[in-house]
Amino acid sequence: MGKKNKQFVEKVTAMEDDFAQWYTDVVKQADLVDYGPVRGTMIIKPEGFAIWENIRDELDRQIKETGHSNVSFPLFIPESLLQKEKDHVEGFAPEVAWVTHGGDEELGERLVVRPTSEALFCEYYSKNIHSYRDLPVLYNQWSNVVRWEKTTRPFLRSLEFLWQEGHTAHATYEDAAEETDKMLGVYADVVENHLAIPVLRGRKTDKEKFAGADYTLTIESLMHDGKALQSGTSHHFGTGFAEAFDITYLDENGDSKHVHQTSWGITTRLIGALIMVHGDNRGLVIPPRIAPTQAMIVPIAQHKEGVLDKAYELRDRLKNLVRVGIDGSDKMPGWKFNEYEMKGIPVRIEMGPKDIEKEQVVLVRRDTGEKEFIALTELEDRLPVLLEEIQQNLFNKAAKHREEKTSIVKNMGEFKETLDENPGFIKAMWCGALACEEKIKEETQATSRCIPFEQESVSDTCVCCGTEAKELVYWAKAY
Ligand SMILES: [Zn+2]
Repeated sequence: MGKKNKQFVEKVTAMEDDFAQWYTDVVKQADLVDYGPVRGTMIIKPEGFAIWENIRDELDRQIKETGHSNVSFPLFIPESLLQKEKDHVEGFAPEVAWVTHGGDEELGERLVVRPTSEALFCEYYSKNIHSYRDLPVLYNQWSNVVRWEKTTRPFLRSLEFLWQEGHTAHATYEDAAEETDKMLGVYADVVENHLAIPVLRGRKTDKEKFAGADYTLTIESLMHDGKALQSGTSHHFGTGFAEAFDITYLDENGDSKHVHQTSWGITTRLIGALIMVHGDNRGLVIPPRIAPTQAMIVPIAQHKEGVLDKAYELRDRLKNLVRVGIDGSDKMPGWKFNEYEMKGIPVRIEMGPKDIEKEQVVLVRRDTGEKEFIALTELEDRLPVLLEEIQQNLFNKAAKHREEKTSIVKNMGEFKETLDENPGFIKAMWCGALACEEKIKEETQATSRCIPFEQESVSDTCVCCGTEAKELVYWAKAY
């Protein structure tokens, strides 16, 4: 633990008082990360990395199930390669890290530490795709990327982070569009059904789309403080990159055509979302399907004869059923309760001399604090069901919170008032003009989060300029 002689876990700042400080406290107290020696970098510690591994494993399973293969591309990109797609380089230039020397020698050409790998994949595809028989190419890589951010926060914005990036090439626009949809669906499944975070599905406005993309699809989620977080994006490139990098194939008739491409990614930001959607003033709350430890056994009065033996026996009984831990250290039970609440472990199993006598255990839920006594003979049936109940409850709670923090507004007065009084998602009509989008951002700091797939008309006129409305947009202040 590294916390010598400490009886109880340090208190975290109350989220109602200072949400940003609450977040920082939880990240530290739950032992998820430490800061790296370079400003803005993070060391992901075992407790944090285990959460990432569970997200990664589930997503990786689904990526493979949908026909993709994992690959590993280089860390460095030659400057000339990044320059090939104009919008792309303009989008990323302000935040790239440059390598200028190899040992003592100045390089003939500067190298970029990958901020994303489109250029490398495109270069490779231009050399290796020849015929319609080579298509589709469905690649994904798990890697780290570097973006030189000015302000940083663990998981949410850091100079280096972990992610996966899918890069695919297809014969037709429609094939690529289907892929873009499919991968957004995979992301929505992982985030909703495993992280228990409800998401909005939609398309980004042109202003907010990926640099160089035809269009970008996104899933957006709402944090406890009413700010939005982009939780996964899937981009359709059309033939933009293929033209810039000269990626062509011969179709069935022997005609040369450009490929249609996609890319899609999710990052360690999802851990930030998990913290800010489910956490409370006692610390993390991790949904059972993602939790590295789903149940923690805490023996009570363990100095009494037979208690520890029984507790370890219970651990062995449960270990093939759920991810179970046990704390048989000589720390006080109260310290252990606080510690595992801070770490967000979904269920605590208490077992003391009285319970052993009655052949029962006490189950305590992290999400509600509710206790139940359960006969040992029924535990194997009850525990997996309880974990599912917690998973469902977390999703329902987050969905209710989002609903309460989603407002419809019809003019800029209402827009500003709502952001002050009930910050969250704002549903408002938009005329489609960039000028209005920019004005809204300037006056309210809210950005367009997405044009939802599920459209409805909440007003006839644009919330900003009052001319005829084109589509419904979700707006919010965002991380
Ligand atoms: Zn307008």
